[in-house]
Amino acid sequence: MTVKTRFAPSPTGYLHVGGARTALYSWLYAKSQGGEFVLRIEDTDIERSTQEAVDAILEGMKWMGLDWDEGPYYQTKRFDRYNEMVDQLLAEDKAYKCYASKELLDEIRAEQEANKEMARYDANHPKIVAVNEAATDGEPCVIRFRNPKEGTVVFEDQIRGRIEIANSQLDDLIIRRTDGSPTYNFCVVVDDWDMGITHVVRGEDHINNTPRQINIYQALGAPVPTFAHCAMILGDDGAKLSKRHGAVSVMQYRDEGYLPNALNNYLVRLGWSHGDQEIFSPEEMIEFFSLDGISKSASAFNTDKLLWLNNHYIKTSEPEYVAKYLQWHLDAQEISLANGPAITDVIALVGERCNTLIEVAQQSRYFYEDFSEFEAGAAKKHLRGVAKGPLELALSKIEALTEWSTENLHGVIEAVCAELEIGMGKIGMPLRVAVTGGGQSPSVDAVMQLIGQERVIARIKMALAFIAEREANA
Ligand code: GLU
Repeated sequence: MTVKTRFAPSPTGYLHVGGARTALYSWLYAKSQGGEFVLRIEDTDIERSTQEAVDAILEGMKWMGLDWDEGPYYQTKRFDRYNEMVDQLLAEDKAYKCYASKELLDEIRAEQEANKEMARYDANHPKIVAVNEAATDGEPCVIRFRNPKEGTVVFEDQIRGRIEIANSQLDDLIIRRTDGSPTYNFCVVVDDWDMGITHVVRGEDHINNTPRQINIYQALGAPVPTFAHCAMILGDDGAKLSKRHGAVSVMQYRDEGYLPNALNNYLVRLGWSHGDQEIFSPEEMIEFFSLDGISKSASAFNTDKLLWLNNHYIKTSEPEYVAKYLQWHLDAQEISLANGPAITDVIALVGERCNTLIEVAQQSRYFYEDFSEFEAGAAKKHLRGVAKGPLELALSKIEALTEWSTENLHGVIEAVCAELEIGMGKIGMPLRVAVTGGGQSPSVDAVMQLIGQERVIARIKMALAFIAEREANA
């Protein structure tokens, strides 16, 4: 049997972290089994579904690299099929027309509550029987599924274990409304059957629907898929994850400078484990993923761990991979790469120190753009009279370099220290502020090498002018 899974979001908002993790698990399970992954948009709630939400979900999935083999299917395009199946169940007497008005149902519910009975739809209630017997064809009605009265529904959830519900707990679900539209639980079953879904991986919030859906599969004569219901994600304070915990939309993680591999690694571990391993390359995730490694209990979101993983991926990924996702941040910070070194070289140099791509972009700017001012604090501390001699000597040696290499620049700094009998910091820091504008950067010889000879010379001259002006004003 080829495994086929699906992600079936309702397009009522962006792709949030919980949905993204469900999508990832479902995708990973298909990939790990050499199976297929389907994307289905559950847009039957026309009031709440929007095209913007569909676009946001597709964008989020693409950014995470969760590609689908089939779809996206849209439920609103499949109404004829659902109605065909409703009609089939009606013809087989596995569903029936119910003419009870909302007022009557409310009245019965109030009676049940007053008698301390479970409030539910009861097809055998004398008032409902009377209304249905008196009704004539053509009057407005809903179609209800004839849920079995006896026995239990049992399924082996791949995460939560055996689940058993008595049919007496389940009432006759409406499968087509008075306006002729099929209802959600029915559409899901017909879809999963038609699309050949073998494994339904979804959020725990759907677990109450599952027994009802299983009865519908059986009534349709469809094979029942295997189910896996994933526990919730909580915020770091133990409450259900929500906007107030910060970023919850996948695209907000892009905006905040995370790499998709880091977010995926974070999300896969948020409720799934494989021994003690924390870091999983995309290939390892697929190789090791299994449904029985998913935890039954809710997981708490931890932004510090996500940052740590992001730093790991920025440091260790191919610079080409980082560059692909950095571009969005370079554009956002209006940094043009037209005039400067290869961005992959800059990433290899500055990436080590950065937790986010926003920081990588910030640290990249001075390689591409000249500046007219030094950072005030750094300049005050390091561009002083004592730095004049060392900077002048470094400048003359740098101007004389015929081969522009990190080694030779390192040699220049060492020679300045030796000739002037000063420590490394006395030339290193002034040079750093001169060429980067600020007091923090990777190793200054490597930084100068990437900035280029002409620019380095101009910036040291600018620093000397700054010192001269400062002295003149002293
Ligand atoms: N459309 C449902 C949701 O977005 C998912 C239903 C399912 O996976 O069966 O919560």
